[in-house]
Amino acid sequence: MRNRTGRFLWLGMLIGLVGWAACDTNTTDLPQEAEEDVQEPVRTPVPEQVDDQVAFVDVHVIPMDAERVLEHQTVLVQNKQIVELGPVDAVVIPDGWAVIEGDGVRYLMPGLADMHVHLNDISAEARKDHIVYVANGVTTIREMWSFNNDLTLRESLGVNESNRFGPYMYVAGPGMDGPGGLHNTPAVQTTEQGRALVEEYANKGYDFIKVYNLLAPEVYAAIMEEAAAQGIPVIGHVPTLVGLQQVVAAGQVDIEHFIGYMLAASNNRSATGTLDLNTVNQLAQLTAAAGTWHTPTITVGALSTNQRVDIIRSPHYRYVSPSMRARFSSGFHQGIPPATAERVEANVGIVLRAVQEAGGRLLLGTDAGFGFMQPGFSIHDELVNMVEAGLTPYEALRAGTANAAAFVGASDIFGTITIGSRADLILLDENPLEEVVHVRDARVGVMLRGRWRSAAWFEHELEALATSYGQ
Ligand SMILES: [Zn+2]
Repeated sequence: MRNRTGRFLWLGMLIGLVGWAACDTNTTDLPQEAEEDVQEPVRTPVPEQVDDQVAFVDVHVIPMDAERVLEHQTVLVQNKQIVELGPVDAVVIPDGWAVIEGDGVRYLMPGLADMHVHLNDISAEARKDHIVYVANGVTTIREMWSFNNDLTLRESLGVNESNRFGPYMYVAGPGMDGPGGLHNTPAVQTTEQGRALVEEYANKGYDFIKVYNLLAPEVYAAIMEEAAAQGIPVIGHVPTLVGLQQVVAAGQVDIEHFIGYMLAASNNRSATGTLDLNTVNQLAQLTAAAGTWHTPTITVGALSTNQRVDIIRSPHYRYVSPSMRARFSSGFHQGIPPATAERVEANVGIVLRAVQEAGGRLLLGTDAGFGFMQPGFSIHDELVNMVEAGLTPYEALRAGTANAAAFVGASDIFGTITIGSRADLILLDENPLEEVVHVRDARVGVMLRGRWRSAAWFEHELEALATSYGQ
């Protein structure tokens, strides 16, 4: 056992000066104000980088299996997994292991899953986005529209199997849409075409079939039937001519965005109309009873033209690759007028609260890679917006951790801090159950499948990235 004494120092009001100081800070040099009675515990500096055999010592664990904090724990990580978790006095740290000090004040939570992203391609630039995700605590992603028809994106990147430093990936096949769609995949016009593509995508190893707005009802029905036969789940939009009730009845497992609710429940079949609350509640009860998941993507749906400008001006926009910048500014979704955005936001809040109150199932997703949603950074905006729309911090964080794992049937593998689960972890200086922004602002570092990197390490990497983009 390590000696646990001497951890705290009385450092008065000098939070900014000594926040990262080591335990042996010489307190006698402090000015008189330091004698005042505010206790500021020292946060021990963390190693920049450790690849295996790591002990998080005296951390408050937020396991995310329930709304609770396990105080003063030690967590051992070996071979990409959490191998021990228990009270700090009960866990022996093996000789030679790296120690990351929690100092009895830091919080350890599972890595986040962004369940709606668009990597767009597998170019060198798109691969660089992986580090931006992980730097922000995103250790799992779900690609929502694979553009690579020959191999799955995941295999071509080798992320899940190899030691490549990127988030664990789930991948949906190329989106299936009817004639007139905006995307670069062929329109699915007939039931035969729909069935053939489902079979093809299932055989290629995609995790999901993605459906989109303009599918004809009979083609959608054929896709659903074939997907059930192939054993591949279907996710995506609510096709306009199919409607929310039919999508739920057909067994679509996840609904992206809330537009399907608004089309069904608004007075003018739009996201800005007046919602009929009875209809919203009925639909929320329907989806809850069916166990349908939702990925609200609040931020992108209510992005105003003003917010777009703010995003472009933000310091972290330097980490957006030239190809992604070009994509953002070239095409659709430049944001909506602020007044319209407010109406959409209000409607999204109504639907979100109805779904939550009905006991519906929620995932966290951003649409990163589309519509000015930056990889990694955008997940913090989405968390804040989920809370502003009416979720508790726990509910919002759960959507991006335990719920994501439950959705893909991997609750024993990730999404919680449990012995045996994958060591995808975020260490924070503050409690994220109090404020979700702490996941953005108080990060000490991130562990990706057992590999620890400090916030300073990521800062270096992101600086190098910006330089490589000429920013
Ligand atoms: Zn999307």
